[in-house]
Amino acid sequence: MSPQCAARLLARVARQLPRHQSTRYSTTYTLGRVYNALAARPSRSDRPGLVYWLRMQHRSGLVEWKAGRTDNMQRRLRQWRRQCPGCRITVVDKVRTRYAKKLERCLHLCLKTSDAWKVPSACEACRVLHREKFEVGRFGGITKALNVTRLLRDIVDM
Ligand SMILES: [Zn+2]
Repeated sequence: MSPQCAARLLARVARQLPRHQSTRYSTTYTLGRVYNALAARPSRSDRPGLVYWLRMQHRSGLVEWKAGRTDNMQRRLRQWRRQCPGCRITVVDKVRTRYAKKLERCLHLCLKTSDAWKVPSACEACRVLHREKFEVGRFGGITKALNVTRLLRDIVDM
């Protein structure tokens, strides 16, 4: 991907990002990181796979959103359900990509632009500190998050 092409595509991503910007990182700084991640060549260990969004509803009613990657959604979902048996876990979306690591990284960086990263806290169901859970409300909602995920996938797979 040429730098011009990457810049044009980044502008498309930036338009999708919510207006509420991060208080911890400047917009320019975070978009710069997204740009670098998009323009970077996929690592040699990167593989085709799925980037997924899970909705995790706890017994207390608390709903959490998790974005991750796997090469086998059924197996990953079984692992999650075994680990957090008190949680109702549903797959909200999964997108297939040629470069699962790269897509996951780009998505996580985009989520940083809106302070959507949750500080890890012990899971209500299993007491484990799960990483990479997101406040999708701060990102403009789950539909917005899914749109950005698919847009990034289209760019990463080019
Ligand atoms: Zn858990």
